[in-house]
Amino acid sequence: MKTFYAEEQKRHDPKAFLSSGAAQPNPEQPDRVERLLAGAKAAGCEIVRPRNHGLGPVAAVHTPEYLDFLEHIYARWQRIDGASAEVIPNIHPIARNGSYPASAVGQAGYHMADTACPISGETWQSALWSAWSAVEAAEAVMSGASAAYALCRPPGHHAFADVAGGFCFINNSAVAAQVLRRTASRVAILDVDLHHGNGTQGIFYARPDVLTVSLHADPVRFYPFFWGHADERGEGAGLGYNFNLPLPRKSTDAAFLQALEVAFQRIRAFSPDALVVALGLDAFEGDPFGGLSVTTPGFARIGEAIAKLGLSTVIVQEGGYLCDELGDNLTAFLTGFGGKSR
Ligand SMILES: [Zn+2]
Repeated sequence: MKTFYAEEQKRHDPKAFLSSGAAQPNPEQPDRVERLLAGAKAAGCEIVRPRNHGLGPVAAVHTPEYLDFLEHIYARWQRIDGASAEVIPNIHPIARNGSYPASAVGQAGYHMADTACPISGETWQSALWSAWSAVEAAEAVMSGASAAYALCRPPGHHAFADVAGGFCFINNSAVAAQVLRRTASRVAILDVDLHHGNGTQGIFYARPDVLTVSLHADPVRFYPFFWGHADERGEGAGLGYNFNLPLPRKSTDAAFLQALEVAFQRIRAFSPDALVVALGLDAFEGDPFGGLSVTTPGFARIGEAIAKLGLSTVIVQEGGYLCDELGDNLTAFLTGFGGKSR
């Protein structure tokens, strides 16, 4: 299987992060890339650099004012006396029906959901190349590959059409799905990250052409808190095209695979032409976030089960944080999915 990745994706090196209000090192470290690259190579993947695809595929799922913000906010922030080194919001609108502010501080609050997505001078380019890896993986599948893997970093599934959050800036899984829609009538996104894919849900919430399905730790007591509950089913023409499967904390392989079968029933009933897997590896029992208890062999079984859907599949990297097994978990998933044979 081809793996798409560009060196520029590693330059984003976030520092700030708050955990229960306390300052901690940001867990979305560039070193994740080395572990994931090693994991992909061990599964027999060939690493391919994506081309520059311009803003078109990104602007297809994000608003112009948000992309302008992401591109320019760091330089604007540097002109504020006494501002932090990275762009970090400190005020948010309580609802999004107020005015759009002109100030950099106001816009940071408008476009950033939390403090887990600090923006530095490298962020925009890293996020763009990450999205272009997803574009190229989607194009590989449209050209006839049965599957392709986009080593997207920074990740994307917490990014809404006009809001960054949870380490995410550009929603790579949404970008891949929208590229697939050039030839596919219906696309399903299956998100197996520990955390609910709230940004992806938000982008497609009112659309019946992209089914969004997410398995995740129950948000009643877990990030992203305000989204990911079972009663969020879509709206308008998209009603019934969003499906959340919240799992109890510390759920094991058996529970995860059981929920996956429920997800498959919904996906089969939708009869998609292509599938995007938002592949977080942070459901792992040893992940620093510690929300679910999937094992390394469990990821192989998850990959194997998803491959049995028999759909053209774009695998997009989401979360999964520094631990000794991060690369092994990717190898397990990709090998289970089909590895060298696909
Ligand atoms: Zn996650």
